[in-house]
Amino acid sequence: MSTQTKTNLLGLTKSQMEAFFDSIGEKRFRATQLMKWIHHYGVDDFDEMTNLSKVLRAKLKEIAEVRGPEVVYKDFSDDGTRKWVLKVDGGSCIETVLIPMDDKRRTLCVSSQVGCSLDCSFCSTGKQGFQRNLTPAEIIGQVWVAQRSYGPRTDSANRPVTNVVMMGMGEPLMNFEPVMDSMELMLDDWGYGLSKRRVTLSTSGVVPAIEKMIGRTDVALAISLHAPNDELRNELVPINRKYPIKQLLETCNRYLDTLGDNRSITIEYTLIAGVNDQPEHVRQLIKLLRGFDCKINLIPFNPFPNNDYRRPSRNAIMRFQNALIDANY
Ligand code: SF4
Repeated sequence: MSTQTKTNLLGLTKSQMEAFFDSIGEKRFRATQLMKWIHHYGVDDFDEMTNLSKVLRAKLKEIAEVRGPEVVYKDFSDDGTRKWVLKVDGGSCIETVLIPMDDKRRTLCVSSQVGCSLDCSFCSTGKQGFQRNLTPAEIIGQVWVAQRSYGPRTDSANRPVTNVVMMGMGEPLMNFEPVMDSMELMLDDWGYGLSKRRVTLSTSGVVPAIEKMIGRTDVALAISLHAPNDELRNELVPINRKYPIKQLLETCNRYLDTLGDNRSITIEYTLIAGVNDQPEHVRQLIKLLRGFDCKINLIPFNPFPNNDYRRPSRNAIMRFQNALIDANY
């Protein structure tokens, strides 16, 4: 049987894995045995799965595989940052970065698409255009590659990847089901066992998809706002023309309300010199977010070729930040 026709078990949620074993006439408890090998121990060779019979291993080799994205480049810095360039089916490449936050926490920034169709004016991914959605195996495969780089996880308290943010290439809510399945695996104890507060979906504001998240998942939410009014946001984040700020914030509030456990939303704001970093912008932002339960993540713009935007001066960044701090953010 050719590789293409084999089922890639890497991206299957627990219920999908159980359905797979049902479909081949095997007991359902095999699902969690397999998941433990794949996600806890990082094993991709059925022959190493020693608690499965030889007959089952041979059968699995015929019809299934555990295939993560191919690592084409990796860079492990002394400060603990780990970066991978991964090749996915069709030959395109995506980037995944693991960033140490402190001694105990490391955040993995995960991609959901190759390229992106939303064309935010300050984003280099948007300028590449959209190629395709990633599959669940390619999304969870990024967590798998990162965790595997530390060896097998034998101790449930010792997790190399402690936080995930869906904030790499692509708009995760434009690839809804594969992203939901992947996040289910991140939270599942048979997968990566991460807390729902430590998995964050970052969106530019696909309002109908945020509505679909209600009742489907309870991960943390981050909004790429980047502007304090619709006029400017229409320019920076074109999807705002379809779903303006008021509608977006109301929908986020509804999502927060259903979680019911005092959680706030993260507002991401990329500071671009002379565009959205002026005193009037911070005043408008404070007014806009009054009464809205959130924390604000300021990101100085990172210049890239063929783009005229500039990073603000350190003074301008501090002025903006201090105004927010004075307003109790
Ligand atoms: Fe870039 Fe995200 Fe906008 Fe897509 S949605 S263009 S990835 S900032």
